[in-house]
Amino acid sequence: MTTKPFHVAIVGGGITGLALAISLHRRGVSFTIYEQAAAFGEIGAGVGMHANAVRAMKICDEGLLAGFERVATRNAWPSKSAVWFDVLDGTSTEPANVPEKLAPLFTLIGHTDGHAACHRARFLEEMVPLLPEGSARFGKRLKTIEGNNDDSDRALTLVFEDGTTAQADAVLGCDGIKSRTRAVLVGDDHPERAKPAYSHKFVYRGLIPMADAVAALGEERSANAMLWMGPERHALTFPVNHGQTLNLVAFVTTPEPWPSKDAQQLTLPATRNDALRDFEGFGPNVLGLLRQTAPQMERWALFDLAEHPLPQFYKGRVCLVGDAAHASTPHHGAGAGMCIEDVAYLSELMGTVNDKRELPAAFAAFDASRRGRDQWLVASSRRAAELYEWQARGRDFEGIADEVRARQAYIWNIDLDVGIAAAKKDLRRRLALGMPAA
Ligand code: FAD
Repeated sequence: MTTKPFHVAIVGGGITGLALAISLHRRGVSFTIYEQAAAFGEIGAGVGMHANAVRAMKICDEGLLAGFERVATRNAWPSKSAVWFDVLDGTSTEPANVPEKLAPLFTLIGHTDGHAACHRARFLEEMVPLLPEGSARFGKRLKTIEGNNDDSDRALTLVFEDGTTAQADAVLGCDGIKSRTRAVLVGDDHPERAKPAYSHKFVYRGLIPMADAVAALGEERSANAMLWMGPERHALTFPVNHGQTLNLVAFVTTPEPWPSKDAQQLTLPATRNDALRDFEGFGPNVLGLLRQTAPQMERWALFDLAEHPLPQFYKGRVCLVGDAAHASTPHHGAGAGMCIEDVAYLSELMGTVNDKRELPAAFAAFDASRRGRDQWLVASSRRAAELYEWQARGRDFEGIADEVRARQAYIWNIDLDVGIAAAKKDLRRRLALGMPAA
């Protein structure tokens, strides 16, 4: 394949940065990944991928999809293969391991597929070998970007905290919720736009050996994805590691501010007893599972960009992708999926560009095609939590089911081929008319 006559910098090697690198590589775009950590790494937790995300992986790269499929775990029971989540009353005092006593309030059926999830670190292990050798630099924490962003003939200079620099024709900021690229792009004089806000929710996360989970929940509730609703709190459980482990995410709403003085610190130490106290009033289902978690845990703050949505995802030759552009709370379980959709669109657009001077137009077409959907997810995710925690519609379970189904349908039913074709048409129009990109 011909290599494009330009070189781009990818800042950040999380799911977005790695998927983007793999997808650009397949389209002949040369790149270097700059990652602040000493190695690629993901947290020990599960991540669910919806059917739209799986379709986006296929567009990015067949190898990426194959890697996900190797580590993906779906609902174990054939009768649950189309189920995204069974939604239950987490406050019920009925034993969870007697299914006929604790029937779901409603079931969310996936449109083309049921629940699919993996352990984050296992997915990362599948992605890394797909990168060309020597394409990543570690210990490179971006500090700023220098150079005339409007002059495409001259490279931009990335400046790192260790005092070193690197040059690139464009910078793709995949540096997540705390993105430094976003702060550079928006300008330090607009800190409110650059900074995510606390959603007044935090989570406890746990990975529980399946035998322990079965002891607490019984087989049906452990082998398949469940969502446990309750007032001001809710929990999700789904199998990962080919059914050897149950992933638990337990959400708590609080009026208190996030206690860390350091706004960059999104996790704090906690204990199993803290979690049990926070879930007081729940039934033997969620409480039984929390008792199976490690005595020492962490609390994760849920910050997002809902209060300060970006007016644009790019400026000149600097473009934000994934959480850097639209960090969301995880109540639709779709944040990473949107990152992968972003990657499918952006790499397809960049793959059609043959001159570095056309990159700003590709970023403009990316922004125009993605920003509405990505920012809708951020807002809708907050609403989803209010539904699951009985704040938005009380205990009107039929109303909750209808609204959640409609919101999920918007996530699942996107026709990515049509969307990408329209974005490419927009790019051709911008180039033909010589439209200013920013
Ligand atoms: P990140 O994963 O944050 O990666 C950013 C990378 O950039 C990191 O490697 C970091 O070290 C690096 N970096 C940061 N700053 C710099 C810098 N200055 N210089 C160089 N490198 C830098 N999504 C789903 O689709 N399904 C789910 O089930 C799901 N569950 C979730 C549960 C929780 C509790 C949370 C909080 C989120 C969940 N999400 C889920 C959302 C998903 O985790 C994110 O959307 C996704 O991980 C974002 O990936 P990213 O690569 O954009 O950012």
